[in-house]
Amino acid sequence: MNIGVQDDNKTMIKFENVTKKFPLGNLAVDEVSFEIEDKEFIFIVGPSGAGKTTILKLILREFLPTNGTILVDDFDIASRHFDQVEILRRKIGMIFQDFKILFDKNVYENIALSLKVSDLSDDQIKKEVGEALSLVGLAKKEMTFPLQLSAGEIQRVAIARAIAGNRDIILADEPTGNLDPKTTWEVMKIFKKLEGTKTIIVATHNTDVVNSFQKRVLVLKQGKLSKDQRKGGYEI
Ligand code: ADP
Ligand code: MG
Repeated sequence: MNIGVQDDNKTMIKFENVTKKFPLGNLAVDEVSFEIEDKEFIFIVGPSGAGKTTILKLILREFLPTNGTILVDDFDIASRHFDQVEILRRKIGMIFQDFKILFDKNVYENIALSLKVSDLSDDQIKKEVGEALSLVGLAKKEMTFPLQLSAGEIQRVAIARAIAGNRDIILADEPTGNLDPKTTWEVMKIFKKLEGTKTIIVATHNTDVVNSFQKRVLVLKQGKLSKDQRKGGYEI
């Protein structure tokens, strides 16, 4: 703690020489180090198999690293003794590549379910869900079932679910991977709106999106961090 010292640039996520090797697999993540500040907006790019999803899942502690240290908001989450996974997960909203939307639940239930593990009252959950849906422009779709939604709307539900509950960190895995160009921009506009309010990490290989945002870009190649550009676009 820096008591008495103004802490403008708090580190939210820190990887120190992180390696992840799956059994029988290649090195998915190979000696990677970086720091991400609180409320920073950052892209992780790189070809398929480069290790983008693995990095997001390490932050979520779905995987433990084989070696190295991972700090999330001062929690040492790579420690095998770390026992506050629930608290960690409440800080993080994850938008998965395959949405993970429940098709037998309506929009409201899909989002409310992710808040049930928290200690929020039903009224607070209602408020959180309402606010998140307004932010993604789906306030009127609470009672709609996913089969009646377009792909872009389903992705917006997934984003609403990730932000509901006042999360500090949003992790998005290829959030526009299955969308056409027009819908891609509608979805990325939501990320623009969120910028500066949370720590946001977007894994993508959409060069147009990355180039238009002009944000920090981590480039991965075969599990290694090959570039860390403070601001800017990228070429594959
Ligand atoms: P990206 O998201 O950049 O496409 P991934 O992080 O999914 O890359 O994968 C990186 C490497 O790790 C790939 O070689 C992939 O096959 C491997 N990998 C990812 N997840 C697993 C897993 N659960 N078990 C074994 N190997 C995996
Ligand atoms: Mg991936």
